[in-house]
Amino acid sequence: MDPDTADVPEDRCPVCGARSVCVQGLTTMGTPKSGDFSLCSTCGSVSRFGPQLDRRPVGADELERDEHAELRKLQIFVRLHILMRNLRGRRS
Ligand SMILES: [Zn+2]
Repeated sequence: MDPDTADVPEDRCPVCGARSVCVQGLTTMGTPKSGDFSLCSTCGSVSRFGPQLDRRPVGADELERDEHAELRKLQIFVRLHILMRNLRGRRS
């Protein structure tokens, strides 16, 4: 396991269904806790960890709040990374 990742119960992205068994913190390290945000590395959607570390989608109204400005920037970064990964995949 990558030293920067933490194991979590197997879960699926609530938006795209991508499977996950570990996470890597964007702003903190270690195991996430209930209420922490998650960015899907497959589709770029934002979700939030629940009490069992299951993820629930975050609505656009919540994401648009001023206190989530940094999260929106991270989402843009992740989506650009996904786009570049997909473009590279089409060339090979
Ligand atoms: Zn996803």
